[in-house]
Amino acid sequence: MSYEIEVTLAENKKTKPNANELAFGTCFTDHMFMMDYTLEAGWHHPRIVPYAPISLDPAAVVFHYGQAVFEGMKAYRTKEDKILLFRPEKNMERLNLSNERLSIPPVDETFLVEAIKKLVSIEKDWVPADEGTSLYIRPFIIATEPYLGVRPAHTYTFIVILSPVGAYYAEGINPVSIYVENNYVRAVKGGTGHTKTSGNYAASFKAQEEAQKQGCAQVLWLDGVEKTYIEEVGSMNVFFKVNGEVWTPALNGSILAGVTRDSVIQLLEEWNIPVKEKRISIEELYAAYTEGTLEEAFGTGTAAVISPIGNLKWNDKNLVINGGESGSLSMKIYDTICGIQTGEKEDPFGWTVEAE
Ligand SMILES: *Cc1c(COP(=O)(O)O)cnc(C)c1O
Repeated sequence: MSYEIEVTLAENKKTKPNANELAFGTCFTDHMFMMDYTLEAGWHHPRIVPYAPISLDPAAVVFHYGQAVFEGMKAYRTKEDKILLFRPEKNMERLNLSNERLSIPPVDETFLVEAIKKLVSIEKDWVPADEGTSLYIRPFIIATEPYLGVRPAHTYTFIVILSPVGAYYAEGINPVSIYVENNYVRAVKGGTGHTKTSGNYAASFKAQEEAQKQGCAQVLWLDGVEKTYIEEVGSMNVFFKVNGEVWTPALNGSILAGVTRDSVIQLLEEWNIPVKEKRISIEELYAAYTEGTLEEAFGTGTAAVISPIGNLKWNDKNLVINGGESGSLSMKIYDTICGIQTGEKEDPFGWTVEAE
């Protein structure tokens, strides 16, 4: 494949939104990155082009059989006006893991990190500067071949779009209520739970809607077989501080291996706080709660970094955690990761990468 990225700049630039008007995923930048795959040529024709609608045959495999994968990462502006990416190589590594499961041909991870850096540096004026804001990066692959037969497509398109996003916690960090989901399941071992594929999300909306009807922000997913072991919270990984130790569900084939999850584990180890990746049953968590040792709970993911859990609704029980307030460890992790991402804190792990 040719590693030369062809660049076509947009003739008309969009007006950038004001920092206080930024939401999540509603506004897109002037350019996008694309490349195509065919059986004969492999991945080819990498290019940066003006952001625009794409045209697909209505028979494209992605519309019918959902052969699609995606990633989510962010770029941050430092005080010195440098643009930093956070562990982008991990996202490209995970993209190939998803590709492998979805029978999508693998991509060149190193090249794509460079391509994303190039796109972000062309769009650097779109990276917002206000505290908590960032440029969200959404790489994705869709199966484009017009074919209704049931087999992996022979053609694909890889696209990266960018969206400036506002502070996730514009009004300060408020812990969320979470509904322990006993009916619907997100994933099972052997399925696609460990990958970022569109269908996982489509299948999760129903439970999210029901949780919201119960006054909760999201669901706590239990395992798909015994509906006993804790897996994730919404589309985030989940952590609990119990009696001075931190627990998170061990990766088991149905849990998505979050980059934030991995970063939190490394930080805790660095701080000599015992962290255990283990199977956690909802009963074990409830027992800790009744003994008074369930000290904190939080979700982790790129969008929010840390999302403290104030209470868990489990059947007729309501577990109020840390008096419904954000815990001090949750906040320390949040401040440290955000500080590293924005270049305000030292980066002893070498997690950040400059975009230009
Ligand atoms: C993306 C995702 C996460 C979080 O991963 P990060 O790399 O930390 O953003 C967790 N769970 C699910 C199901 C996800 O799709």
